[in-house]
Amino acid sequence: MGFCAGCACRLSLNQLLPIVPCESFAVTQQISLPASACAIDPERDAQRRDGAHEVAPDLAYLRLAIVNVVFIGLPGAGDGRWVLVDAGLAGTAGWIRSVARRRFGGTGRPAAILLTHGHFDHIGALPRLCREWDVPVVAHAAELPYLSGKAAYPRPDPRVGGGVMSWISPLYPRGRIVLGERLQALHPDGGVPYLPEWRWLPTPGHSAGHVSFWRESDRALLSGDAFVTTAQESALAVAKQRREMHGPPMYYTPDWATARQSVVTLAALEPDLVIAGHGRAMRGPAMRAALTRLAEDFDVIARPRHGRYVGHAATIENGGAYPPP
Ligand SMILES: [Zn+2]
Ligand SMILES: [Zn+2]
Repeated sequence: MGFCAGCACRLSLNQLLPIVPCESFAVTQQISLPASACAIDPERDAQRRDGAHEVAPDLAYLRLAIVNVVFIGLPGAGDGRWVLVDAGLAGTAGWIRSVARRRFGGTGRPAAILLTHGHFDHIGALPRLCREWDVPVVAHAAELPYLSGKAAYPRPDPRVGGGVMSWISPLYPRGRIVLGERLQALHPDGGVPYLPEWRWLPTPGHSAGHVSFWRESDRALLSGDAFVTTAQESALAVAKQRREMHGPPMYYTPDWATARQSVVTLAALEPDLVIAGHGRAMRGPAMRAALTRLAEDFDVIARPRHGRYVGHAATIENGGAYPPP
């Protein structure tokens, strides 16, 4: 029996398919992106045969059904000479390791795993990868309570609408991982361990300790879920990887004012290349213009009209960000 897009909600396809057409009433596109903005080169990807989408010589990503993981390092670099960003869905560790082996050689072990944040679809393969690779896991200090069993994420909110992925969001796991001593906090100076060219940027709102990663030399941005490039609320848009500039996934964003400020910060960088947590990698002027528009009109374009956290954020300051697990 097949299951819905690997999102761990365990709805069977037979249960899901009848409600997918209802999405046509609920899904509105935020900012459409042209095919020319897509950063993927299918011909070169097919020639390399490592299974990843390469968008710069040392930058590639892998789409795991509904979410992306990123590989930073030169092909053939060997064990311990590259870094994985985020860790996808539960059940995908073998897939990630297989692509890593083909791309980097050796056993495919990285120097570390960096996290943009700790939502279930970004850490699902972590327990197995940690066991097999024995590497540090690095995240923002404000995200550590979710990764050490001290706190759960604020409850997802299906009332924001947008499609099936929102409607089933109460079923998503929200913080039962305990990573122990291998867990490390990003250094406050903005440096990224093992990646001297990269900086991390605080981009909270979607989660309390959400970060993005930025490389000035080629203006490459890993935005995590601060903004994404498909409508993650919609199973249809996700299945098709419909191209659009889109605010953070609505059902899982508990602080909209802060999320808006994070998009403003990222748009001001004027990136040339973006790999988000969800959707295809995008590049160039059309992507940049769409990101600028998203930042300028965020409250109209990206903020839901209603929902649990609209007008009432769950923050560190008011205690809402860290409910007990
Ligand atoms: Zn997320
Ligand atoms: Zn996500």
